[in-house]
Amino acid sequence: MNKYAQIRQTAFEANMQLPRLGLVLFTFGNVSAADRSFRVFAIKPSGVPYADLNPDKMVIVDFNGKVVEGDLRPSSDTLTHAVLYKEWPNIEGIVHTHSTYATAWAQSLRDIPIYGTTHADHLIHDIPCAPPMEDNMIAGNYEHETGYQIINFMNWKKLNYEEVEMILVGSHGPFTWGTSPEKALYNSAVLEELAKTAYLTEQIRPGVQRLKDALIRKHYERKHGQGSYYGQE
Ligand SMILES: [Zn+2]
Repeated sequence: MNKYAQIRQTAFEANMQLPRLGLVLFTFGNVSAADRSFRVFAIKPSGVPYADLNPDKMVIVDFNGKVVEGDLRPSSDTLTHAVLYKEWPNIEGIVHTHSTYATAWAQSLRDIPIYGTTHADHLIHDIPCAPPMEDNMIAGNYEHETGYQIINFMNWKKLNYEEVEMILVGSHGPFTWGTSPEKALYNSAVLEELAKTAYLTEQIRPGVQRLKDALIRKHYERKHGQGSYYGQE
């Protein structure tokens, strides 16, 4: 069996979930799956419709963005994925979409405030929105710089990538990651739902307050803290 067969299959299945979850139209969006023992990841080829994908069409790329195996050109966002894998040693999956509500917040250049317990179940911070990139970054190696825009903004906000697994890039859209492609995909769907409910909350009640601290802590710790008691483990 080809040594990359597992990540090809995983990346294929995760990419096929994007349209099923309503997170992409046409070919917008991509998922990658990393294998850290080989320091490579499998990613969707550029511009190929979801209906035409199969595991063999996934492109294998190293953490410098160089194609290692595959006949097709990798997703145009490949260098962004490469930078994140290189800089963040504990992630094995990345998702980028232009899902409607998350993208609307990104275009509005706004963090998504924490308004309810669904948000607090996943993270205790507002979902950060990095500013749009500087002109020299856009004119330069754009996709590579997008990766650094994400990393630099997370560092500047003192956010830990293992705690906050999602970000909006201003004027562009959402990126999510996780310890597996499945987790990154889950985060992408959760982000879209949080973006939607936060938007609706502000429509129903303009000027609504953020969730109060006691509820933020309670809900996060139920799932994540020492002594968490949500689920069966
Ligand atoms: Zn994009």
